[in-house]
Order: sequence, then structure tokens, then C-alpha cells
Amino acid sequence: KRKQIAIYGKGGIGKSTTTSNLSAALSDIGYSVMQVGCDPKNDSTNSLRGGKPIPTVMDTLRSESNDFEKVIHEGYNGILCVEAGGPEPGVGCAGRGIIAAIELLDNNGIIDDYDPDIVIYDVLGDVVCGGFAIPIRQGLAEQIYTVTSSDYMAIYAVNNLFKGILKYSGSGGGLLGGIIGNSIKSLAEKEMIEDFSHKTDSEVIQYVPRSPTVTKCELEGKTTIEGDPDSEQAEVYRELARKVINNQKKFIPKPFDADDLNNWGSTWVSRILLHQKTSSQGIQDD
Ligand code: ATP
Ligand code: MG
Repeated sequence: KRKQIAIYGKGGIGKSTTTSNLSAALSDIGYSVMQVGCDPKNDSTNSLRGGKPIPTVMDTLRSESNDFEKVIHEGYNGILCVEAGGPEPGVGCAGRGIIAAIELLDNNGIIDDYDPDIVIYDVLGDVVCGGFAIPIRQGLAEQIYTVTSSDYMAIYAVNNLFKGILKYSGSGGGLLGGIIGNSIKSLAEKEMIEDFSHKTDSEVIQYVPRSPTVTKCELEGKTTIEGDPDSEQAEVYRELARKVINNQKKFIPKPFDADDLNNWGSTWVSRILLHQKTSSQGIQDD
């Protein structure tokens, strides 16, 4: 049976990097993968394709071409790459691209034609509104994952996502597969995300350290899996891939209400600050 998942998270938090490495790792294990970038910036799949952008679904629709297969572009190891794209700047809702892409892929049987083992939607999810909510609302993605760092605003975005998941959970919406803690630099950061997951009835599936290897490979237009397969970071992404493909869990998260989240955040700030102070003193001492 085909697995369909969606990966949400605050802007710039590492969704596309994590998703592309997950796709690359899954394809190395032998799964056929389709990655759908649901972001008007249409850069989700760049590192699977030597850093080069591809024409988007919205571009294809605007060109009035009926050759819908044109939206599929093969990347690393045969991964099927799709970018939803967005409306022309300043015109219409950014979520329109997602709506168009999902309709096109589904209604024209494109996903069935290519028959991937797993479809991964990389969704810019600051606001779970309109088009951005579709993978959740209609249960298109059976599992939702979210990428977060320990930054308060990133966790705030996760909490909002949880509200969205909870809202549609009674009507066949996608449920939470887990949290991916990204750009981890200290134990305190890990513990903060861990604590958030416990308090919201959810679970962290993997912690991904902040690593210059990711940057180095990105500059070469590659995922870490492709650019530095023997690195520790690549092994972390492979571990994530094995966990995701086997993960059957579906959480209905229990989000904080606004005041409680704020209070919870305050209790963690001092701890994280203390650690940062200690480590920057360490740098000065060297
Ligand atoms: P957007 O919302 O703009 O689509 P995003 O959430 O998809 O952003 P990315 O584009 O994946 O974020 O990542 C943003 C930047 O952070 C990139 O330069 C990426 O290389 C870097 N980055 C992400 N994860 C890590 C990591 N674990 N270690 C080092 N750098 C990272
Ligand atoms: Mg992105």
C-alpha cells in the first residue's frame, strides 16, 4: 500500500532539507519516492536535482499545455520531483498552487500511473489555512510530520499545526506521525522539544543535529545523502527514513492554548540561555 505523508513547519526551519534527505535515504533503501513541494517558492526538490529549479504545476497550467506528465521531473536516484508553485506575485492566495497541484496529480491519475511507494508533501505551514490545510483536512496525508527547532516561534508554529490536526481529526483528517527536532545544538534544546512533545501528547521521532555538512552539500546542489553519504549526518537521515517508513503511529495532539504555551516557553528560556552563556564562554576560553 502506498504511504502518503506531509511535512509541515515554520518558514526556514529545514523542511525541504529534511524532506529531500528523507526522500534520498528512502530511495537508497529501495523505495520509489515522489516528493511534492507545496510552497510558492518552488525550491523543495532543488537539492535532489543539482540545485536546479523545475517548472511548476502552476507554470504548466498557465501554459495551457495538456501534457500533465511534464510536471514530473526525475531527481537523485529516480526520485519523482514535483513543485506546486504559486500564483504570480501579488495575485491571489499562495495556497492556490497546492490546491492545483493536488487536483492535477490526483484527478489525472498521475500518482497512480507512476505508482510510487511513498509520496511526501513538503508544506510551508506557518498558517494552516486554505490550500496549506488540504493534505491534513482531507486525510490526503495519512501521517503529518513537523520539523521544528527549539526556537519558540518554531514551536509556536507546531502548536498551531496541532490545532489544525486536532480540528480535522474527527472527520478523517491526517493525524500526527511525529515531530522531527532539527538543527539541534545542545542537550537543553533537545529536552525543550522533548518536554513540548510530552505535554502535547505527541512524540519526537528523530533529532537531527545542526551540521556544516548539510550546508556544504547544499552549496554543491546536493542532499547530504548524495553529497556525503559516509558522514554521521547522512546516517541520521537514514535512521529517520527507516523510522518513518515503519512508523504506524497516529497521534491526536493536544495543543497548548495561547497563555499556557507562553508560560511554558518562559520556563525554558532561562535554561537555554544559561547553556548558551556557558558554551560561548567556552569559545572565549579556547
Ligand atoms: P522554507 O520555509 O523557506 O521552505 P525550509 O523550512 O524548507 O524553508 P530549508 O530550506 O530546508 O528550510 O532550510 C533552511 C536553511 O537551513 C538551509 O540553508 C539549510 O541548509 C539549513 N539547514 C536545515 N537543516 C539544517 C541542519 N540540520 N544543519 C545545518 N543546516 C541546516
Ligand atoms: Mg522549503
